[in-house]
Amino acid sequence: ESVRELLLSRIRDVADYPKPGVMFKDITPLLADPAAFTALTDTLAELCVRHGATKIVGLEARGFILAAPVAVRAGMGFVPVRKAGKLPGATLSQSYELEYGSAEIEIHAEDLDPADRIMVIDDVLATGGTAEASLELIRRAGARVAGVAVLMELGFLAGRARLEPRLDGAPLEAL
Ligand code: IMP
Repeated sequence: ESVRELLLSRIRDVADYPKPGVMFKDITPLLADPAAFTALTDTLAELCVRHGATKIVGLEARGFILAAPVAVRAGMGFVPVRKAGKLPGATLSQSYELEYGSAEIEIHAEDLDPADRIMVIDDVLATGGTAEASLELIRRAGARVAGVAVLMELGFLAGRARLEPRLDGAPLEAL
């Protein structure tokens, strides 16, 4: 069984969640399976090393669950991008548009160094709005982007097309 097949087999499709018409990709069965969770962590950590990352940024909230063990496995630091109002120190903030309304995310800029090359990790790339805003935070913090790595890319939402112009040739990896 390939890693890809193992991971796919542990993702649950939940119809009409969180609202009618949405097919939600639920990763909790994957997290509950140690073989799948370990395979995912190892694969993402290997990508971070291969792409020359020095630090991992995880996106709240499911991105934290993946990014933290990847950072430990890869021997790199972990920096959270959080929803507005959750970080106690001096933050950079970035707003972005949602289907209805807008959202705001923040980072502790002091945790990124200009010498850092950042790998951004999240579970799902949908429209790409969250990842795009996180790239903007990293740029404003003065660090460089090593790439974006996600477990799943929802291709029909065209997040890749939105993100690629912001990546300056850095890879977008979707397992
Ligand atoms: P985007 O900003 O539209 O790309 O949405 C990506 C964010 O929404 C990520 O942080 C995901 O965790 C979350 N997300 C969107 N769709 C799903 C899904 O089907 N399953 C789990 N998370 C999702």
